[in-house]
Amino acid sequence: MHKKDQPLIFELSKKGRTGYSLTELDVPEVDLSTLAPEGFIRSSAPELPEVAELDIMRHYTALSKRNHGVDSGFYPLGSCTMKYNPKVNEAVARYAGFAHIHPLQEASSVQGALELMYDLQEHLVEITGMDEVTLQPAAGAHGEWTGLMMIRAFHEANGDLNRTKVIVPDSAHGTNPASATVAGFETITVKSNEDGLVDLDDLKRVVGDDTAALMLTNPNTLGLFEENILEMAAIIHGAGGKLYYDGANLNAVLSKARPGDMGFDVVHLNLHKTFTGPHGGGGPGSGPVGVKADLIPFLPKPVLVKNGDQFEFEYNRPQSIGRVKPYYGNFGINVRAYTYIRSMGPDGLKAVSENAVINANYMMRRLAPHFDLPFDRHCKHEFVLSGKRQKKLGVRTLDIAKRLLDFGYHPPTIYFPLNVEECMMIEPTETESKETLDSFIEAMIQIAKEVEETPEVVQEAPHTTIIGRLDETKAARQPILRYQKKEAVEV
Ligand SMILES: *Cc1c(COP(=O)(O)O)cnc(C)c1O
Repeated sequence: MHKKDQPLIFELSKKGRTGYSLTELDVPEVDLSTLAPEGFIRSSAPELPEVAELDIMRHYTALSKRNHGVDSGFYPLGSCTMKYNPKVNEAVARYAGFAHIHPLQEASSVQGALELMYDLQEHLVEITGMDEVTLQPAAGAHGEWTGLMMIRAFHEANGDLNRTKVIVPDSAHGTNPASATVAGFETITVKSNEDGLVDLDDLKRVVGDDTAALMLTNPNTLGLFEENILEMAAIIHGAGGKLYYDGANLNAVLSKARPGDMGFDVVHLNLHKTFTGPHGGGGPGSGPVGVKADLIPFLPKPVLVKNGDQFEFEYNRPQSIGRVKPYYGNFGINVRAYTYIRSMGPDGLKAVSENAVINANYMMRRLAPHFDLPFDRHCKHEFVLSGKRQKKLGVRTLDIAKRLLDFGYHPPTIYFPLNVEECMMIEPTETESKETLDSFIEAMIQIAKEVEETPEVVQEAPHTTIIGRLDETKAARQPILRYQKKEAVEV
């Protein structure tokens, strides 16, 4: 069979085949239908695939080989921090005392787990320069929404019902305006100047007594440090607004600079980015939120507190925005982040940002002669190139991204941020070796050459993957998300 034709597990099914063998029953058999109330028992068994253990192993191993992951190759997806996830994190997360506990257990029986959560909060307080942290939010966007709901509750508690607007730079991550909208705010865009930084005059123009907050990431999504941050903080605070820090990618400032010291009032972190939680496939993630003292009363409840030498959840928080997640956050991912922070230590975390920044600058400088560099200045953990020059030759950034697959690389983020034409956003991360950076650079240079000499090779890429160029519009508009018998599917 051709490797393209990996059948679905349902198509491999043969009646009566099983993937397990059990010893003979040595207790009386129970009729299951007598155990459940009427109406809770299906009249027929679900049509599950019947396959042998070996078939199942081969099936999923074959599928997994079709995928690209950070354990199989370089993954320079800007703004996503696809760094290596150390395996010691997995070992610790699997300790029975962490993996086999239940969120409804008595606090007294899970003191170790609570202590880990409390300690993680304290570490994140230190790293961000905030006064208190909640671990409840399950993702970056969820953290943004949680933070904005706290800002909203803060203004409402002050009788400031007029503050309905959240200012977001045009280079911002798409989740920022989306979270602001879901939290009930109106989004106002502030422009970037030609240096790729927030235009202060435009900021002064849009700020006012209706400003609830400015959402900002620093370094921004172009990988540039907003050097006027203290002045921006003064402008926003002067107008009575709050500063929200999108800390999804902290790789450039970890142990170097703290959002709290830059004037930010609220920050979320993506533990599944900077702090080596695995991500992709939709999670689970963790997006803790830190706040300055005046926002503490609004933190989601329950709040984990230390009472003497006991850790417990406090529910009596009348001004809290309430619970934002069942139980107390994605505990397993928090264990991984805690393991990472403890195994790196403060000096290790500092080395992370230094290496992330030097890797990005090295790559940017070596690629700059071959592509357009819209902002020619030192970058932080990531940088953007523009494929404008290649577009004039009929090759688009999308084609370049597809061609990279033939070299075994995951493409960078493309067409984002929106304010750069034919944008490619590259984030090498600190975990890659110089050899890996060099091979990727060589691949990019070769593609740039191909654009000039044999553009069709790039335009028709990828050539070596199991599936060639996809119809992306159709994939988005007509997704087939569950099994349908082959003959029923019209492709
Ligand atoms: C990834 C990212 C987010 C969103 O995080 P999710 O966990 O995917 O919700 C927000 N802002 C920035 C800058 C990001 O890179």
